[in-house]
Amino acid sequence: ATPISIMVASGRGAQNGVLFKDAAAIEALREVDTLVVDKTGTLTEGKPSLKELVSLGTLSRERLLVLAAALERPSEHPLAKAIVAAAAGTTLPHVENFRALTGRGVRGRIEGSEVALGNARLLQESAVTLGAEADATAERLRGDGATVMFLAVDGALAGLVAVADRIKPSTQEAIVALHRDGLRIVMLTGDNATTAQAAARELGIDEVRADVSPTDKADVMNALRAAGHRVAMAGDGINDAPALAAADVGIAMGSGTDVAMESAQITLVKGELTAIVRARALSRATVANIR
Ligand code: ADP
Ligand code: MG
Repeated sequence: ATPISIMVASGRGAQNGVLFKDAAAIEALREVDTLVVDKTGTLTEGKPSLKELVSLGTLSRERLLVLAAALERPSEHPLAKAIVAAAAGTTLPHVENFRALTGRGVRGRIEGSEVALGNARLLQESAVTLGAEADATAERLRGDGATVMFLAVDGALAGLVAVADRIKPSTQEAIVALHRDGLRIVMLTGDNATTAQAAARELGIDEVRADVSPTDKADVMNALRAAGHRVAMAGDGINDAPALAAADVGIAMGSGTDVAMESAQITLVKGELTAIVRARALSRATVANIR
């Protein structure tokens, strides 16, 4: 690639809201056949809101919200912010021994009780059993695209917290355009399979990899590459950083975390996937110019 054409491409990219870290990123984007996308914050707004609280024991829904919000207050996760926002105006008790467990949830001690909030894996680790009623309610909520978290108090299941996140207005158009551009699209998420499939079906996404922990996200990337694919990965979170680094081309959302942008070769300034189509056209024009 000549320095001039690369400079021109970088300038055009910047005008179109696409920042390339280096010349290799411009060229690599053209070779990609698979686009892996994170769900939360990439396909969706990443600003979820509380949808439903279900009590499964003796605690009132008000009490469940107080415990959940108190526990989530120190967390940075978008799910945490939704729960804390729903309890705005309420005085929250102090949390001792707070722990954030990446890709699973949070734990702590509140007013003498051990409280845990997170996914099914977190419950398993705490030896809390789900039961048929809780399981059926959780599946119903997931079928509507909600993310369901379980709240356990002193080792017993106390309730369900359902949070929903809207799909970004630009996502549907982006999927259509990316398909037309010949890309296969894979959704990669730490969220549950039912929730992920509800979103994937609505968007026409080709494949879903759900229940994937942040460290395993990078393994998915390596496996796709080992199978002969050229893979771009688009993500926004700290939990996406290893996968962004493991992809042939990492693409960060400008609306996301600094860690994601540092791990990626390309940043989409507005955080909209539609910019990838423009970036690919630019990449093709640049490479054609050189040869
Ligand atoms: P994603 O890949 O969708 O961004 P994560 O890997 O961050 O998701 O999280 C996976 C799952 O772990 C979430 O869907 C949720 O069930 C649970 N989880 C993660 N962080 C938290 C938290 N702070 N509070 C409750 N649950 C959490
Ligand atoms: Mg995310």
